[in-house]
Amino acid sequence: MNYYSTNNKNSKVSLKEAVLKGLAPDNGLYMPESIPLLPNAFFDSLPEKSFQQLAYEVAHALLKQDVPADELRKMVEHTITFDAPLVEIEKNVFAMELFHGPTLAFKDFGARFMSQLLSWFAKEEKREIVILVATSGDTGSAVANGFLGVPGVKVVVLYPSGKVSDIQEKQFTTLGQNIIALEVDGSFDDCQRLVKEAFLDEELNRKFFLTSANSINVARLIPQSFYYFYAWSRLKDRSNVVFSVPSGNFGNLTAGLIAKRMGLPIRQFIASTNSNDIVPEYLQSGIFNPKPSQATVSNAMDVGNPSNFARMMDLYANDLNNIKADITGYRFSDEETKQAMREVCKTSNYILDPHGAVGYLGLKKYLAEDTEATGMFLETAHPAKFLEVVENTLGTNIKIPANLKGFLKGTKKTITCSNEYSQFRSCISSLL
Ligand SMILES: *Cc1c(COP(=O)(O)O)cnc(C)c1O
Repeated sequence: MNYYSTNNKNSKVSLKEAVLKGLAPDNGLYMPESIPLLPNAFFDSLPEKSFQQLAYEVAHALLKQDVPADELRKMVEHTITFDAPLVEIEKNVFAMELFHGPTLAFKDFGARFMSQLLSWFAKEEKREIVILVATSGDTGSAVANGFLGVPGVKVVVLYPSGKVSDIQEKQFTTLGQNIIALEVDGSFDDCQRLVKEAFLDEELNRKFFLTSANSINVARLIPQSFYYFYAWSRLKDRSNVVFSVPSGNFGNLTAGLIAKRMGLPIRQFIASTNSNDIVPEYLQSGIFNPKPSQATVSNAMDVGNPSNFARMMDLYANDLNNIKADITGYRFSDEETKQAMREVCKTSNYILDPHGAVGYLGLKKYLAEDTEATGMFLETAHPAKFLEVVENTLGTNIKIPANLKGFLKGTKKTITCSNEYSQFRSCISSLL
């Protein structure tokens, strides 16, 4: 199947090119030419299937023309080596825990699947593949760990200096091997801009085989749809299911929209954001108005120009009313977020991370209007990844999982760089 650019439907490439290029040459994002609609029998059979099996079947429906079935099955099995359990924290309010992977955030799904797909494509390439990835915290660790030691691939992680938590930082600055951490004097938006500029830089692209692993890459998007099917299939009452997605670049939410397009009967999506409320504002006013990002306690969602907005618009043919029929948007302040963490801890004895807390708030606000729905919010990271915020908010110490402790023992090693493109360019040229 071909993939087209959201900026020009006539500009089409193969899956391989879409994955290796990341961003289309016209700056658009790649979308599958058609999204297969799965039959009712498929949905009826889901409750009996394992996570791996149903994920494989969803992947096969999307990728069968591009990846042989036995290869694809292996990729899915190597991606999904951990569960995504549902925890009912209040009646009809479920946390979908996506943090049981190696770096304790949902981004492990996308990064692990992408590393499988990319190393399969890389076998045909002569040059070393260089992955440029901008991170506000969790992407960097998921991608770096997903690709650690993969032959023929180097990873350069760009992150805003001083703006990610200590634990997040340790997860991609202590690895060594084929992973380089670039500490940028600037914001996450600066990091994203530098990566975008690098891809449009013809000379740099002649020198290096650059690719991206940001949520713009379609190889990360596709596996993020798997757990919507899985979560839905594990509910007893599957009739009026809504998902609240704590969002930054909106990759996770877009993957949910794709699942819905494949026939998954989702009643409504809730786009829950912190004060970086570009999408909720768009849903209200019809005006898309990117702004510089603001720092919040849910820092992995501090995005002022959400990249997957282009895909969301594409899925709904740029029609505000269409998109509003499927997506409701809400924003929440840091105070509200921390208050929710305290309340849920007290009443349900459940520890939310600040991102999941925004998802929880969005879900509760929506359920107050739509009382028949069964709600899920995506718990996108383990609370221990945001130790300071969580412990200060709750006024108590929380348990740190063993694999996080392992990262904390490592020594940080980074290369510092300004947020100016010319400097960034000479910096990476000298590193690679
Ligand atoms: C990346 C991230 C998000 C935002 O996900 P998007 O797909 O960019 O919207 C939310 N929570 C956590 C913990 C994250 O790491």
